[in-house]
Amino acid sequence: MLHLLDQTPDQLQAWFVERGLPSYRAGQVWRWVFGGRVAEFEQMTDLPRALRSQLADAFGIFTSRVVKHQQADDGTEKLLLELADAQRIECVLLRDDQEHRTICISTQVGCAMGCVFCASGLDGLVRNLRSGEIIEQMLHVQRLLGSETERGDQRLSHMVVMGMGEPLANLDALLPALAVATSPDGLGIGARRITISTVGLPAGIRRLAEQDRPYHLAVSLHAADDALRNRLVPAGSKVSVASILAASEDYFEKTGRRVTLEYGLLADLNDRPEHAGRLVTRLQGRPALINVIPYNPVPGLPYRRPTAAATARFVGTLRQGGLNVKIRYRKGDRIGAACGQLRRGRQ
Ligand code: SAH
Repeated sequence: MLHLLDQTPDQLQAWFVERGLPSYRAGQVWRWVFGGRVAEFEQMTDLPRALRSQLADAFGIFTSRVVKHQQADDGTEKLLLELADAQRIECVLLRDDQEHRTICISTQVGCAMGCVFCASGLDGLVRNLRSGEIIEQMLHVQRLLGSETERGDQRLSHMVVMGMGEPLANLDALLPALAVATSPDGLGIGARRITISTVGLPAGIRRLAEQDRPYHLAVSLHAADDALRNRLVPAGSKVSVASILAASEDYFEKTGRRVTLEYGLLADLNDRPEHAGRLVTRLQGRPALINVIPYNPVPGLPYRRPTAAATARFVGTLRQGGLNVKIRYRKGDRIGAACGQLRRGRQ
């Protein structure tokens, strides 16, 4: 059986044409799944009955199921999905006061990057997700919005690729999934409203830039110098801070989109005045936005969130140095909605 969501729109059209059926049927199926939020071919009432059962024999629509659904009082909802091979991944719905509805998706089961403070990589990489598995997360999360229909704000408006895994290590699956996310027949989320967060793989950053789509890129820097960064991000030890910043500038030149540099703030490790000073020196004159993310503690790991005073001091130094800084507190941290924690929790 084929996974419907692993087929590109062209492949699905070809399936119909090969069987002597009109290719517009592909569009009908696609609209039922994304716009109509239908999970069974049987419910696609404008298709002939015989075709519905032929499709049901050939394709599965969902290969994953929701095994846990958590809601936080700030409106964040988190799903734990079980895939066909029993592996588990997480995806999240974030709501904010500006009526933004943001989905956070995963691209891999586990992660190979080994960032020392992050829950997702603690057990290494299990496997890449397929495109269909990435798209399924969008459909599952979109369904959470169903009950808001009366308020008319039931569509996902933004996407962040900040869940489990390193997105640029799985671009072959991610790019087709993002094509569906941005397509008017798919979710219709504008490319400018999609943020891809990477640990900083220069070759991947350049490949993404070549797509010529205005995705917003966020690069997890976490330190201004190679020695400290290599301690925090072991996978980055072959990649210098200089080469990451150079790739980020290329991205800006190619796409016209300013890159965000993420700086996870860890008490006593990278939050001291000298760290802030080095970052100012390093980034002077660059068109970057800095996102400071106070650490969200992971059970079992020794890292701590800095005090509010340390965070304010760090950010103050960056701003005095002329940098454009935002502080981002993770939503949903009380339900473990940050960073691969749910998959590791006891079920
Ligand atoms: N592999 C991608 C996506 C990871 S998650 C990347 O490295 O960017 C997105 C961001 O959350 C990254 O900046 C990551 O370093 C950060 N992060 C991971 N665990 C965290 C935690 N416990 N608290 C705060 N930020 C965390």
